[in-house]
Amino acid sequence: MSDLTSTERERILAKSALFNPPEATLPDGRRELVGLSREELVAELAALGEKPFRAKQLWHWIYHQGVTDFAAMTSIAGPMRAKLAERFTVGRPEAATVQTSSDETRKWLFRWRDGQEVETVYIPDRHADRGAVCISTQVGCTLSCRFCHTGTQKLVRNLGAAEIVGQFMAARDSYGEWPSPKDDQPRLLSTIVVMGMGEPLYNYENTAKALRIIMDGEGIGLSRRRITLSTSGVVPMMDRCGQELGVNLAVSLHAVTDELRDEIVPLNRKYPIKELLDACRRYPGASNARRITFEYVMLRGVNDSEAEARELVRLLQGIPAKINLIPFNPWPGSPYQTSTYEQTASFAAILNDAGYSSPIRRPRGRDILAACGQLKTESERVRRAVA
Ligand code: SAH
Ligand code: SF4
Repeated sequence: MSDLTSTERERILAKSALFNPPEATLPDGRRELVGLSREELVAELAALGEKPFRAKQLWHWIYHQGVTDFAAMTSIAGPMRAKLAERFTVGRPEAATVQTSSDETRKWLFRWRDGQEVETVYIPDRHADRGAVCISTQVGCTLSCRFCHTGTQKLVRNLGAAEIVGQFMAARDSYGEWPSPKDDQPRLLSTIVVMGMGEPLYNYENTAKALRIIMDGEGIGLSRRRITLSTSGVVPMMDRCGQELGVNLAVSLHAVTDELRDEIVPLNRKYPIKELLDACRRYPGASNARRITFEYVMLRGVNDSEAEARELVRLLQGIPAKINLIPFNPWPGSPYQTSTYEQTASFAAILNDAGYSSPIRRPRGRDILAACGQLKTESERVRRAVA
């Protein structure tokens, strides 16, 4: 069993590598520093004859201070700054558009150097100075969940670590949240949900590298408890995610029978519900204090009956879980309707009675197509035009 899993994991990683982004280097040869691991940064500087403390200084300027201009790195002597600026760059994605919803949700369309685009969303808490940044990990998605707009866009490519970290840094720029607040201080951009475009566990290496950078205490310093990664159920990668990153896990369940899940989350044909829930039972660090979130999109007449709610309770037995009920967010041409409020409430009541916290997520940013499952870009078309 574990041999099978590791073979499967190798296969997933090899396939993922085929979709890797172009090198993060400018046409003039300058290398992008955002997105390098600490070890890689040390190695880049060692190649210039610089000691490791230089990497520490740079890390502080890039990720703690949020500086993009070498000239502003005042703890580094002038000639050295000039030398660094000749060889390196500290970049941000270009925001092709920025839209703010009537409910204050903000959505960016970020464009990368090769012209590909993804969307990132900030969802401020309306009652406190905090909020979640929803970041993307792929341009498009290989999976095609029936209710998801991103799923109608073929996978164009993976995002690199620089592009994943860059979304969060650019969002922070937008609200002026630099230097990075220390852990006990309040943050406006206080949590990250890896729930944007793409399946993060099909781009594991880049996602893991980016999250390690974001969690590093000498830089952005966002703790793993403030990061939630959502997967549609890539079972072989879930263990690694738990062991290596220890972030919170969210699982897109959406159905209680394999028959229905096969249809609406086609990955279920590979990793059926039982295997998925076994992987959840094994997920390191899951406890009553740190529950696994199960996402359940409410589709009218499809998966929202009381009997299904009771079956959900039965399936989740023994897993420290909470359930997020997400009203289906429509998109142009989408094939479903949102469950009625009454139906959603009686579904929730059954879960609550069984002792599960099951908030009904209020849709945010629908007017700018920024709500769950509404993200999509034109990147496919750009690619076809080039080809
Ligand atoms: N690929 C990952 C993460 C991105 S999707 C995953 O599938 O988990 C984030 C969440 O939004 C998932 O639970 C997804 O199933 C849900 N979602 C997708 N389309 C939706 C829609 N139209 N309305 C509501 N939620 C949707
Ligand atoms: Fe991909 Fe997630 Fe959308 Fe499914 S729900 S198509 S896995 S982004």
